[in-house]
Amino acid sequence: ALALFAIGTAQAQKKKTMDKKQDIEQKITTLMAKMTLEEKVGQMNQYNGFWDVTGPSPKEGNAALKYEHLRKGWVGSMLTVRGVDQVRAVQKIAVEETRLGIPLIIGFDVIHGYKTLAPIPLAEAASWDLEAIKHSAQVAADEASASGINWTFGPMVDISRDARWGRVMEGAGEDPYLGAKVATARVKGFQGDDLSLPNTIAACAKHFAGYGFSESGRDYNTVDIGNATLYNTVLPPFKAAKDAGVRTFMNSFNILNGVPATGNSFLQRDILKGKWGFDGFVITDWASIREMITWGFAKDGAEASEKAVKAGADMDMESYLYVNELVKLVNEGKVDVALIDDSVRRILRVKYELGLFDDPYRYCDEKREKATINSKANHEAVLDVAKKSIVLLKNDMSLLPLKKTGQKIALIGALATDKNSPLGSWRIASDDNTAVSVLEGMQQYKGNTLTYEKGADLIVGKATFLDEVQLNVTDRSGFEAAKKAAKAADVVVMVLGEHGFQSGEGRSRTNIDLPGLQQELLEEIYKVNPRIVLVLNNGRPLTIPWAAEHIPAIVEAWHLGSETGHAVAQILYGDYNPSGKLPMSFPRNVGQVPIYYNQHSTGRPVNADKNVFWSHYGDVEKTPQYAFGHGLSYTTFKYGAPKLDKKVYAKGEPVKVSVDVSNTGSYDGKEVVQLYIQDVSASLSRPVKELKGFELVSFKKGETKTVTFMLTNYELGFYDNNGNYLVEPGTFKVFVGTASNNVQETEFELK
Ligand code: BGC
Repeated sequence: ALALFAIGTAQAQKKKTMDKKQDIEQKITTLMAKMTLEEKVGQMNQYNGFWDVTGPSPKEGNAALKYEHLRKGWVGSMLTVRGVDQVRAVQKIAVEETRLGIPLIIGFDVIHGYKTLAPIPLAEAASWDLEAIKHSAQVAADEASASGINWTFGPMVDISRDARWGRVMEGAGEDPYLGAKVATARVKGFQGDDLSLPNTIAACAKHFAGYGFSESGRDYNTVDIGNATLYNTVLPPFKAAKDAGVRTFMNSFNILNGVPATGNSFLQRDILKGKWGFDGFVITDWASIREMITWGFAKDGAEASEKAVKAGADMDMESYLYVNELVKLVNEGKVDVALIDDSVRRILRVKYELGLFDDPYRYCDEKREKATINSKANHEAVLDVAKKSIVLLKNDMSLLPLKKTGQKIALIGALATDKNSPLGSWRIASDDNTAVSVLEGMQQYKGNTLTYEKGADLIVGKATFLDEVQLNVTDRSGFEAAKKAAKAADVVVMVLGEHGFQSGEGRSRTNIDLPGLQQELLEEIYKVNPRIVLVLNNGRPLTIPWAAEHIPAIVEAWHLGSETGHAVAQILYGDYNPSGKLPMSFPRNVGQVPIYYNQHSTGRPVNADKNVFWSHYGDVEKTPQYAFGHGLSYTTFKYGAPKLDKKVYAKGEPVKVSVDVSNTGSYDGKEVVQLYIQDVSASLSRPVKELKGFELVSFKKGETKTVTFMLTNYELGFYDNNGNYLVEPGTFKVFVGTASNNVQETEFELK
């Protein structure tokens, strides 16, 4: 009876959802019947809310004109309007002064938090903790929505294998399987189960597609990838976001195989809206319609608009083109009004789902804004994910965890007192200098003597979101004091790395060593006291070959957001046992880039049994410095051999893989148990290893657990060059272990 009741309620729920959907479609039809062509096109226009920022020319982009358009109902959305006051002001114009009173949808780059900042997305991915990642997005949605925002331009789900590209900090790293899981968690976190609740916001999967493959890691550069990479590496996280119900997509600045993503109907119409059946809307990237002229893909704004709308771009972000060109294009018969209707329906659908028509001011709640922003609970939440994001790269000499009493600790490095840099890039709503610094975090442990010395500045002057970071530091006058402190210490903690604004959009680098004088400082300190714990702050993999060889303990602490210092100190002192794993390979030098674990094999074997191939570099090892999936703990884990329940499986039958893992060390701890496969012989060459499962498991000291994975068609197949998903019979290898380069293997046959 209970089961029947459950089925009954599930069915009732389904019917309710269907009814709601139909009701929305009906309302849209009624509303659209009243709309003029100009008003329809208006819904497809989004303006930036920085009123003082002018557009490509003052005529097109000035504030007065934007207001005028808003009053006419020619603006469907605004971005970067923030705070209840600002949002209420523009919403009031849309709702009260326009003919039809259609509310605006308010977008914002809520990338890793709104005011309370979580770790940068790459760091969060290193937690491999999908619940924590989801919760972090929930917190961000809660704060942003309390501030009037109802749509975030996140998650960025671009896969990248190139640490030179500054935007790797915004993604989930190099792997499409992990990327898909993280994308799902973030979409669910932002959107919740019910978009109409005032503390959930619409998410946006970006940048569709291929942006992470910008040639040579230079931002916005040419993307020219084959179908194998497009279907198997680039698209899966987008597909996962779609399946998780993401309501919007953002297209991209790049060209993909010659066609700008914004004017790319293969991507937006054939795949996204066609094959995947996406019924939300596509926003362009910033002025990317206009950029099609720069690409030589359109001669002027009219042609660019025509190409963009035909290709399926529904809303124009800040190109000022749809608003100026589309009505004309329809009247001239160049653009079918059915395309406009389709875009408008999609946009209105999301507005209805958000509940904006029920109450356009539902996101404008001063009381909630006050109570939610920077609340204690939110700070606790970002601290929790910050600790989980830290990766212990190396821990020789058991320097870590630090003893809590009787120690002399020297803390060195400009980043150790920095309260701004750890906030990372992309935090336009938050206040500067609000992070807990590492020094402040360390000071809370009072049993030791702590001395701080800067050593040298990290950068010259102040860094901002828009200005290039200046690295030409020459002042070594602080070296002596730092050396003196180091010499007198039992343990030296050095906080080195990148400034928070050295990664992010437009922040590509050809040199990803420790910037400025930091390498020199590190080597000088090492001469007087090699007992160094190196804490890295960075938004991308760095090349640290010297440190990897000499420094006994290395902690990857990324840019961890508001609670940085607390998270780092708790890790260093062992109040949290590190459990993060790298979501991106760390190269030995930049010449190895792109370097990634799920590569294809090469020919010219020297000793195929030992996986030795002639394809190598003459001057550096072929392997990365730190492999994808690598990350240590203060305890140790011992893996048994992976076991299968059978040797031969029929297609479609789940493959059960289990492994015994034991905590053999002296701390309780968590481990990300990783499973990889190789399809040994297929109709297309498959990578030597592909992540297809992971479990984050807690172990008491001495405890052994059996961890089980189920491999289904989703894990065992791949896309051919026409985008068809294939699961092919044959031999599969299965690898289970603690990192992509530290696994044990078995194999099975698929019939
Ligand atoms: C970025 C997008 C971002 C948009 C709005 C663009 O420059 O590429 O990721 O959402 O600006 O700020």
